[in-house]
This record gives sequence, structure tokens and C-alpha cells, in this order.
Amino acid sequence: MRIITHTCPACGTIVAANELEDNRVMKCPGLDCQEVLHFEDLPENAREHFLENRDRYQI
Ligand SMILES: [Zn+2]
Repeated sequence: MRIITHTCPACGTIVAANELEDNRVMKCPGLDCQEVLHFEDLPENAREHFLENRDRYQI
């Protein structure tokens, strides 16, 4: 299974796509990082892949 993650552009913290999809918009979990991450920040092909296979990403 392909792992889809988003890397915070400010601090490099890696966030799983399913966390972003749950929240759509979330504050970066990185320490002292105020960056706000959006599901839409993922590349379009990654979003499509995730949404097509979202059942398999449910833990
Ligand atoms: Zn960050």
C-alpha cells in the first residue's frame, strides 16, 4: 500500500494523509511550528489516490 504523507514546508514534520483528511485543515504538530496544513496541499494525484483507496487507509 502506498503511504501518503505531507511534509510541513516550515519545519519538515511529516503528517499522514489520513490525519489531514480527517481534519482538512490542521495546525502542524511540530514543536513550536505555527504552520497550518491543508489536505489540498497534497499533490492532486496523491489526493485522488487517497480518496479512491480511503477505505484501506482507515486504521
Ligand atoms: Zn511544521
